[in-house]
Amino acid sequence: VLFALGINLAQGQNSRIPSSVRDVEKKVDSVLALMTLEEKIGQLVQYNGSWDLTGPASNMDARQKEENIKNGRVGSMLNVLSVEATNHAQKLVMENSRLKIPMMFGYDVIHGYKTIFPVPLGETASWDMEAAEESARIAALESVAHGVNWTFSPMIDISRDARWGRIMEGSGEDPYLTSKVAVAKVNGYQGNDLANPHTIAATAKHFVGYGFAEAGRDYNTVHIGENELHNTLLPPFKAAADAGVATVMNAFNDIDGTPATGHKVLQRDVLKGDWNWDGFIVSDWASISEMIDHGFARDRKHAAEIALKAGSDMDMEGGAYEVGLKELVEEGNLDESLIDDSVKRILRIKFKMGLFEDPYRYSNPETIKSISYEDHRKVARDIARKSIVLLKNENNVLPLASTVKNIAVIGPLADDKDTPIGNWRGQGEANSAVSVLEGVRNAAGKDVNVTYAKGADLGMGERSFLMPLKINKTDTSGFAEAVEVARKADLVVMALGEDAFQSGEGRSQVNIGLAGVQQELLKAIREVNENIVLVLINGRPLEISKASEEVPAVLVAWQLGSESGNAIADVLFGNYNPSGKLPVSFPRAVGQEPLYYNQKNTGRPYSAEHVTYSAYTDEKNDALYPFGFGLSYTTFEYGEPQLSAKEITVSGNLEVRVNLKNTGKVKGREVVQLYIRDLVASTTRPVKELKDFQLVDLEPGESKTVTFTIEEPMLQFYSANKKWEAEAGEFEVMTGGNSRDLKKTTFTLKK
Ligand code: BGC
Repeated sequence: VLFALGINLAQGQNSRIPSSVRDVEKKVDSVLALMTLEEKIGQLVQYNGSWDLTGPASNMDARQKEENIKNGRVGSMLNVLSVEATNHAQKLVMENSRLKIPMMFGYDVIHGYKTIFPVPLGETASWDMEAAEESARIAALESVAHGVNWTFSPMIDISRDARWGRIMEGSGEDPYLTSKVAVAKVNGYQGNDLANPHTIAATAKHFVGYGFAEAGRDYNTVHIGENELHNTLLPPFKAAADAGVATVMNAFNDIDGTPATGHKVLQRDVLKGDWNWDGFIVSDWASISEMIDHGFARDRKHAAEIALKAGSDMDMEGGAYEVGLKELVEEGNLDESLIDDSVKRILRIKFKMGLFEDPYRYSNPETIKSISYEDHRKVARDIARKSIVLLKNENNVLPLASTVKNIAVIGPLADDKDTPIGNWRGQGEANSAVSVLEGVRNAAGKDVNVTYAKGADLGMGERSFLMPLKINKTDTSGFAEAVEVARKADLVVMALGEDAFQSGEGRSQVNIGLAGVQQELLKAIREVNENIVLVLINGRPLEISKASEEVPAVLVAWQLGSESGNAIADVLFGNYNPSGKLPVSFPRAVGQEPLYYNQKNTGRPYSAEHVTYSAYTDEKNDALYPFGFGLSYTTFEYGEPQLSAKEITVSGNLEVRVNLKNTGKVKGREVVQLYIRDLVASTTRPVKELKDFQLVDLEPGESKTVTFTIEEPMLQFYSANKKWEAEAGEFEVMTGGNSRDLKKTTFTLKK
């Protein structure tokens, strides 16, 4: 039938019509016209591939699911994890269903599939958008070779709360930086044509507010005003939508009384309406039926009605659409045209992906052959070293001097080959990362002696999902050996921080310090050797006030992925000059959380910089290490920002020029940051907001004039008029190497 309508099914990829000229909309309408109500609802159903999909299903539940797939009652599956299983499942549809509408196969490819890159928060610290795009491109290639054609990434939830376990999955606290990453990731996964068999569909998630979970407790309710929602949380999603992200995932949380999954204003009116976005919304795992738990729906049928009317197109493993939608239409409680709209959105993406032309193209042997894991590891190493942030380097302890002949590598994470793989690790194999110890051994010359002692165990035990982690708080039996090793060394590299599964979904924590006995271990080592480089392995900002006071050097090495140890050694030995900058504030104490640089002023404290006054009686207000902060082995000197004009008009622009000089002895990369403050506006505005940045490489002694262009759209915000606009008046523009130490000048917007 489809063929008669001019739709080219399964003719092999050579006959594929280029997507640019494919008349997708016409095809979508033609298919829709053929569909029964049951088949339409089927497209809105997504199953988890929780049974062995390589052969006939063995249990009742799976047999029923298989029948449904054969009957065209399932539009997509997730977690089907081999080419064989994917092909088998797709065949069930292609060989049995009436209309042969191929399924999409989704998976959480978050920071790599086989080759693992830094966790997203870590990678964002590189501020390198080419790197962010490249790791997504590689992840896409490795994924398609294993049957995955859709990733539930990027996560672009802004989070300002280090207690939230999923902060590692996002890009931190800033909407501008997160928007940049969102675009880079969408481009990396999707390329410029989704029909290219080396690409996969991306998902911007979680729409919206999930990262603002109250008290950083995962899945918790979200209280956010309209102003903050539009100015802080929505911009990354707008950027992803404009970049053509294929899908958006909604969220578990409610926002001021309405579950995100049932939020008509946000999904239908803003995302699909105002932004004119034509992809589809997938629910989060069972988030439709969980509206029953929210006390927002009576039962699954009611939940289905609310979600569909609110614009949720596909039900991930929640069973609500499957049981509820048909009756709702037949009773007259749901207009079938709403279902049609959802089906069209899903078919549109499937056509754009070229699935109708070749449903199996994701297992294309040519794609599989084109993969070089060795090359991917090289890229992973380069991105990992770019993601490391140097927080402290007293007396130039780093890079390691050639006089250092005895290095002790100590700590529970020093020879951990698993934690750097991080949480949400795709198909990255357990224990497959290069450990810190291995990296140091690989890099140390023959005349350098490298010794090791674990010192203590983190004692995680089983790292089961949603179960309290067991952390070793008492066993110090390894200390004595570590102290002896440290005593004999010229320098100690201490790898402390968090286990991979201390962050991620359902891994929020009320304590974000060095867990267990790590602080004590540090103290014991320090008594015999003060020459310590602290290497933090972490998925979130940690509370390290005490530790960073006690040691001369601190590196933030996140969970850096497959090549972690080599990347860390590149930095330790000076083969790479660190250039990373924090994408999120490191607090002085956990009690400051949520903590972020782009806050608002009230009349108090009196100084915007909060240096002279603190509202806490026992701690300062500001971060220990602020957003945008990171040192280098060289030093940079910033000139005052110079403006090409003191005034800007709506259609004009002005240039900000800032002189940057490498005043140190080695070449280095600096992330030059530009912040703006709207001094008086119809709603209160943050004391500064990142608006642009540039990566600048300078040889020793070299200077460069870095030029930024300010245009009216950069000054816009969601105003008291409830729309994006810039208001006339005075603005501050600030430039510098982190969000705290900035030089400023002012200009005026004339309207
Ligand atoms: C997470 C999503 C994820 C989904 C599928 C949910 O629990 O919140 O981010 O994509 O599971 O694995």
